[in-house]
Amino acid sequence: MDRYRPPDALEFPRFTGIRTFMRLPHVQTTEGVDVAIVGLPFDTGATFRVGARFGPEAIRSASALLRPYHPFLRVNLFEHLSIVDYGDAPVAPGFIEDSLRRIADVLSRLTLAGVIPIGLGGDHSVLLGELRAVAAAYGPVALIQFDSHPDTWDAYFGHRYTHGTVVRRAVEEGLILPERSIQVGLRGPIYGPGDWEAARDLGLELLSAAEVRAIGLESVSRRILQRVGDHPAFLSFDIDFFDPAYAPGTGTPEVGGFTSWEGLSLLRGLVGLPLVGMDVVEVLPAYDPAGITALLAANVVYEGLALLAARRRDGLPRVATLGARPEGL
Ligand code: MN
Ligand code: MN
Repeated sequence: MDRYRPPDALEFPRFTGIRTFMRLPHVQTTEGVDVAIVGLPFDTGATFRVGARFGPEAIRSASALLRPYHPFLRVNLFEHLSIVDYGDAPVAPGFIEDSLRRIADVLSRLTLAGVIPIGLGGDHSVLLGELRAVAAAYGPVALIQFDSHPDTWDAYFGHRYTHGTVVRRAVEEGLILPERSIQVGLRGPIYGPGDWEAARDLGLELLSAAEVRAIGLESVSRRILQRVGDHPAFLSFDIDFFDPAYAPGTGTPEVGGFTSWEGLSLLRGLVGLPLVGMDVVEVLPAYDPAGITALLAANVVYEGLALLAARRRDGLPRVATLGARPEGL
């Protein structure tokens, strides 16, 4: 079967065509598909600025600039992967628990068929829907979270479902294995010393921004690979991991963060990671006048696709779903 791939940009200029992610075909099928990009345009989980519902549209638009060959990992994405833009999950603005169910419903159609979903957020609350879908196919997964926040608070305003409580809910629902999971990049003012301790008490490994700076990027990537081992992994990238100088368009910015180069370098150090899903979240176009946040988010997705392509190139096996379909189907 032919792979799904974008049109040749040397024949059809990159600014032409309908703005799907990387100008990929918008197809709602799992047949012959390795990876599906899915918009999660939901922002009712945000506790500060809102507007991330327009994140997927902005990331797709910025992604038209991307080219197929990754020169550092030396891999052409579309030689190894068949990728579609699946469109958006049908969320219900204002209704978080219903929206999480809808996201899980759409994404589990993909995960149960062995298709790797890549979510475009949306505020970070969407992660719970994604993890429900991924865990339905693989059991509890390793969570790799790039974020300036742990998102492990118990409740906001007396409510349990927000973008700041999503990781605690995921642990409670048994969707992730804390002993295989790691949070990277934590910084900024918090409510009290217990905030980060609470994440550790859940069993998660935390690497604060200061620790990342102290041990260096290569060591961080190695720590992540060691922590995950060969367990199915979900990579969740909150764009506020980056400094607001590089990613101003986000809901809860924290200064003293990472450069674009540092973030991309960390991701490039993760070759071999057994990824079964990924997202990039908290992109808020209204605060992103030059579009640099959306462009960076598109490139984060691109790094994830390159990791998946490199894994195939290197002959590493597909991560089997619990349904354990035969290799190659
Ligand atoms: Mn977050
Ligand atoms: Mn955050």
